[in-house]
Amino acid sequence: MARYRDSVCRLCRREGEKLFLKGSRCLGDKCAIDKRNYAPGQHGQSRSKLSEYGTQLREKQKGKRIYGLMERQFRNYFRIADKKKGITGETLLQLLERRLDNVVYRLGFAPTRKLSRQLVRHNHVVVNNRKVNIPSYIVKKGDIIEVREKSRNLKVIKDSLKETEKKGIPAWLQLDSPFMKCVVMNLPTREEINIPLQEHLIVELYSK
Ligand code: SF4
Repeated sequence: MARYRDSVCRLCRREGEKLFLKGSRCLGDKCAIDKRNYAPGQHGQSRSKLSEYGTQLREKQKGKRIYGLMERQFRNYFRIADKKKGITGETLLQLLERRLDNVVYRLGFAPTRKLSRQLVRHNHVVVNNRKVNIPSYIVKKGDIIEVREKSRNLKVIKDSLKETEKKGIPAWLQLDSPFMKCVVMNLPTREEINIPLQEHLIVELYSK
């Protein structure tokens, strides 16, 4: 599957804001946005005013980059959201939030979505007592998500959980931290999705 392999800090610099793709480094003084807040490349320092289309495009790119998805996957989520009842933009965000790799990240089992995807792929996560190694698995209300017993001593997971205890987790997830086990209490509402995205711009772009 196609994957972005360049520096993720370039993605933040391209969008002109922190997308928090590197865990604790994003909060320290080594953040590339704090040091060089202009787009990468030869003409990066001469940002021009964006057209309406440009603004919509940038918002969509930002969404893809935050969730670590390629164009085709992201557009597929839009298609699914568009067919459902309700506000398309909110449904789109809800679907993205319900991806298993995102839930593992939100629970604090991994410091970034990229690492949480690896945890899922490498069979460290169990859903409803079954191994699920598909990062795009969409969690449902009532699902029980936990770290496999054998993997509970992994340093990356323990360290990440300590960090998350300070930040807290969203109200739609109920975590039993010592057992690294969570119940999906509800589906996330827009207010519970802490993402700096104007989703209506993405809907406008894809609806052209
Ligand atoms: Fe983005 Fe800064 Fe984190 Fe790099 S360190 S991913 S620029 S927020």
